[in-house]
Amino acid sequence: MKKFLLVELVVLISAFFILWASLIILKIVPDDIEINIISVEQEKNIGRLVFDSFYDESDIISNPTLDSAISKISQRLIFGVGKSDYIYQIFVVRDKEINAFALPGGYIIIFSGLIEFTENPTELASIIAHEIGHIELSHVRERLIKEIGLTTSFLILVNDPNIISEVGRIIISTIFDRQQESEADEYSMKLITKCNLDPHSIGVFFKRLMEGEKDYSFLSEFLNTHPSIEKRIKKSLEYKTPDGFQEDSLQIDWDKVKLSFK
Ligand SMILES: [Zn+2]
Repeated sequence: MKKFLLVELVVLISAFFILWASLIILKIVPDDIEINIISVEQEKNIGRLVFDSFYDESDIISNPTLDSAISKISQRLIFGVGKSDYIYQIFVVRDKEINAFALPGGYIIIFSGLIEFTENPTELASIIAHEIGHIELSHVRERLIKEIGLTTSFLILVNDPNIISEVGRIIISTIFDRQQESEADEYSMKLITKCNLDPHSIGVFFKRLMEGEKDYSFLSEFLNTHPSIEKRIKKSLEYKTPDGFQEDSLQIDWDKVKLSFK
């Protein structure tokens, strides 16, 4: 973190503490209130600010072929999710890394390198479903509370672009723990099955990733739980589909999608 940002952050936190202490002393707020709780609405506000900042700094790719493919995948998934507190928005950013992440509030960012590495649309759908899992299971909100807890309330009020950008960087660079990864995988496989797609795809994807070049070890989202990645692959490949399951594959020309942003 740059020095001036750190000073700015410390000043804001101090000011927030003083304000909060004053309110408690004056009995305006009860002293046993849990100040680190962030509501879904607050999460969405923070997500919007962080996404806007990310959007300005990134090379977002958009073309009719890619947009139509992402829309087809997300429509299928969102129908499967059913009732949700979130409105999902999926964006593709030009970056050769094989990565994806979820921002607070329902934003999912896919790296173009990830699309290039997938062999079919179901693999990408499985990764998006995994990210939806992190959001629906409140992993993203928990991470928000854990990483930037107290300052987030203030963040909404001050709307300082430097701080928002810094918060974005913290969120993006922080990894989920093993249990959360496992839960998101489980969520993905259930959702993918419900959407009549092949739930083993995520395992096939991870297996290819793991067996690939060692350069992939830097990946924050997919291989950060190593060595348990083998367990994740096994779990997915052995996942039992319910009786009568029939795959209804996504009719998307995947090579055409990949060529559309070359
Ligand atoms: Zn994950």
